Amino acid sequence: MVEGLAVPSIPLYFYNTEKREKEVFRPHSHNLVKMYTCGPTVYHYAHIGNFRTYVFEDLLRRTLRFFGYQVHQVMNLTDVDDKTIKGAIHLEQSLEDYTKPYKNAFFCDIKTLGIEPAENYPAATDYIPQMIDFIQKLIDKGYAYKSKDHSIYFSIEKFPRYGRLSHLKLEELKVGAGDRRIAEDEYDKENVSDFVLWKAYDPTRDGHIFWESPFGKGRPGWHLECSAMAHSLLGESIDIHCGAVDNVFPHHENEIAQSEAFSDKGFVRYWLHSEHLIVNHKKMSKSLGNFYTLRDLLNKGFSGTEVRYMLLHTHYRTQLNFTFEGMEGARSSLQRINDFIRRMQEIATPDAPHSEQAREALQRAIPKFSQALADDLNISVALAALFDLMHEFNSLQDQQALTEGDAAEALYVLQQFNRVIGCFSFETEEPPPLYLQEMLEQREEARKQKNWELADQLRHEILASGYLMEDTPHGPRLKKK
Ligand code: AMP
Ligand code: ZN
Repeated sequence: MVEGLAVPSIPLYFYNTEKREKEVFRPHSHNLVKMYTCGPTVYHYAHIGNFRTYVFEDLLRRTLRFFGYQVHQVMNLTDVDDKTIKGAIHLEQSLEDYTKPYKNAFFCDIKTLGIEPAENYPAATDYIPQMIDFIQKLIDKGYAYKSKDHSIYFSIEKFPRYGRLSHLKLEELKVGAGDRRIAEDEYDKENVSDFVLWKAYDPTRDGHIFWESPFGKGRPGWHLECSAMAHSLLGESIDIHCGAVDNVFPHHENEIAQSEAFSDKGFVRYWLHSEHLIVNHKKMSKSLGNFYTLRDLLNKGFSGTEVRYMLLHTHYRTQLNFTFEGMEGARSSLQRINDFIRRMQEIATPDAPHSEQAREALQRAIPKFSQALADDLNISVALAALFDLMHEFNSLQDQQALTEGDAAEALYVLQQFNRVIGCFSFETEEPPPLYLQEMLEQREEARKQKNWELADQLRHEILASGYLMEDTPHGPRLKKK
C-alpha cells in the first residue's frame, strides 16, 4: 500500500449556531460523541426537504466516524403533537394506528437513502412518564406554572439566558410584561412568550387522546418531548444537537431553557443547523404543498443513491434549490464515479511498475478530502478531491500507464471516501447472459446489413431484459440498467 493513505488525525471545525462562528470540536468525553437530532413528525410521509436535513446529519455522523470518533446518536419520532392528534382524530384512529405507517415509511426511506441508523429512535409516546417527571421538577424549581386553562407553561422570565441561541433580546421584546403565553407547538419570533409544557385535555380537540398526570389529563408539548428524551438517553449534557434552521426558534431555544433549568448544567456544546431545500425561492414544506416525497422521485425512475447525492453535494449551510435538472446532474456525476470504479476494476496489468504520477495523485487525495470535511463539512472541496483523482487516473489510463496495483489503491481510496459519501457502487456486474450477448452481435450484424427492422426488434428485446447498449472503442457492450 502506498504511504499517506491513512485518514489524518486533524482537528475538526464546525459552525456553531450559538456562537455564530466555526469552532474547534472537542467532545466532552475523549472519543465518544453524544448527538441529538430532531426527527420526523410522523403525520405524513417525510418529504425530501426533511431528508436534506437527515442526510446532512448522516454526513456529520459519518464524518465523525471517519475521523475515528464513536457516535451515540438519538433521533426522536414525534408521534404526539398538534398535527398527529389532528390527523388521528380526523380519521377516527388511535394515535398508534395513525402514525405507524409513517414510522415504517420513514425507516424504509432512510435505508433507501443510505442513512446509517442512529443508536436510538425513541417515540415520544414511549417516554410520557419521563416527560411528566421532567415537568414536575420544573414546577418544583419555580420555572413552570399552571395557567387558568390548566395547562403547564414554562416562564421564560425565570430563565434569563432565554434567547441565547437565536440571539433574541428579551428586554427589547418586553416579554413577560403582559400575560402572554402560547399553547401551540409551532410559532414564530413575533410571538416570543411562555410556552406550553403540558397541554390540558380538550375533549373537542383531543377526543380519545390523552394521558393522566399529576397536573390533570393532557399531553406533552412538542418542545418538552425532545428535552426529556435527550435527557433520558444521552444525559444532562450532550456534544452536538442538530436540526434545520427553522428549528432554531422556538424549538431549540425552548429545549435549552427547559433542559438547563432542569439540570443547572450546559445542555449542548455545538449547535449545527442545515439550510433548507427550497423550490422557486420557497422552503419545501407540506403546508405550501410544493414537496416531493422520496417515493415520488423513485416513481420517476431515480434511485435512492441519486437522491442522496443530490441532497448531499451542496454545503449544508447553503440553501439548495430542488430541480429535476439538479437530479439529472446528480445522476450523471454518480454515473461518472461508478464508471470510473468499473474502469479501475477492469485493469489487469500486474507486471508493469507503479506509476509515480499515480502515487502522487493518491497521496494528495485523502488529505485534501479529509481537510475539506474537517472544515465544517466542506463537501464541494471534498468531492473536488475525488474528481481530481479520477481525472488524473483516467488520463493515465488513457495512456495505458496504470498497473493493477495502482487501480487497487485508487479503489481503496474511493472506498474510504465512500465511508462518508455513501453513494458509490463497487459491486462488479455479473456478465450479461450469453443469449443477450448473442443478440447484441446479431444486432450489429443486422445494422451492418442495413436490416433496420431486425436491428430495432433486437434492441427492444435487449432493453426489455434490463440492459442498455453502450458504445465503447472496442464496439458496443451491454450494461445493466
Ligand atoms: P418535521 O417533520 O416537520 O418536524 O420536520 C423534520 C425536520 O425536517 C426538521 O428538522 C425540519 O426543520 C426539517 N425540514 C423541514 N422542511 C425542510 C426543508 N425544506 N429543508 C430542510 N429541512 C427541512
Ligand atoms: Zn426536537
